[in-house]
Amino acid sequence: MYFSIPIAPQTIVDFRGYAVLLAVHFGGIYSGFIAAVLIAAARIALFGGPNLSAFIGAANVLFIALAGGLVLRSADKRYWSRWTKMMAVVLVTTGAAIFSAIGTTSLPIMPVILGTLAVGGFFIGYMVDYIVRAHQLFLLMKEASHVDFLTGLNNHRTFDRLFNELVQAADRKQEELSLLTLDIDYFKKINDTYGHPAGDAVLQQIGVLLRDSSRRMDEVCRTGGEEFAVLLPDCGRKEALHYAEQIRSRVERHSFLLGDGKAIRLTISIGAATFPQVSPDLLIEEADKALYRAKHNGRNQVA
Ligand code: GH3
Ligand code: MG
Ligand code: MG
Repeated sequence: MYFSIPIAPQTIVDFRGYAVLLAVHFGGIYSGFIAAVLIAAARIALFGGPNLSAFIGAANVLFIALAGGLVLRSADKRYWSRWTKMMAVVLVTTGAAIFSAIGTTSLPIMPVILGTLAVGGFFIGYMVDYIVRAHQLFLLMKEASHVDFLTGLNNHRTFDRLFNELVQAADRKQEELSLLTLDIDYFKKINDTYGHPAGDAVLQQIGVLLRDSSRRMDEVCRTGGEEFAVLLPDCGRKEALHYAEQIRSRVERHSFLLGDGKAIRLTISIGAATFPQVSPDLLIEEADKALYRAKHNGRNQVA
């Protein structure tokens, strides 16, 4: 309203109707009414009211909130169709409000006013659409940057971050921290025999098994193609081996469904290492070495 266009004594034209529409669009009909009441009160208190034009302007925004809210609640969910209807509300009610405030003197300038409101409305509609899409993409990217798409587990980047955080925390609290690295045995054969999608189904089910077998504070990560890591805070060597053995036997007993009704059995090998017996900069390396030993000694075992 500070930047409005005076068209007659005490009569101003601006885009305030769209402020109400934005409130309706993002927050619903009640948000629209709150915005409308605030704008109406400001129009009367701060911009030359109380007079007829101010009251008409106030009524105008309240009506826009109501009509915009009805459009929002209608069955039409397509963005542009809905926004165009809301714009039509602004054009019609603002035109009518100006006409009832200053009568026929408004007619020569009416095309300019309505044209400006229409152009402004399309511009705002475009900007809202753009901002919402950009924000949705941002949320998607944010999630994709730390979660593995296939299994929903932490990805390698998150594993690195969690590893550093948990090592520091364990050091500070003088607690133990164990790391398990897991690798599916002969996974290539599963892909070769049943196809890549079947391999993906297996990876997803391993993800579920690992998550179900872990405590709240544990962090389960997919660190590579068919490689996983579990960080176990406040967990010593003995409990870590016990836990690893639990996972190993759970996988061994599980029937993995391949999507076409087929079910297969498979096994995993696990390597474990525990801080502070192993220093932080060797922890990952030692767990990997243990995993290699488990593979070398015949797979389907914990080392
Ligand atoms: P080992 O017992 O020695 O671990 O044998 P392996 O066959 O499991 O090991 P290898 O490293 O030779 O094979 C891993 C395979 O994992 C190769 C690759 O095609 C497959 N792979 C990696 N990422 C994915 C994925 O996202 N989906 C599927 N379906 N397969 C994957
Ligand atoms: Mg591997
Ligand atoms: Mg493997």
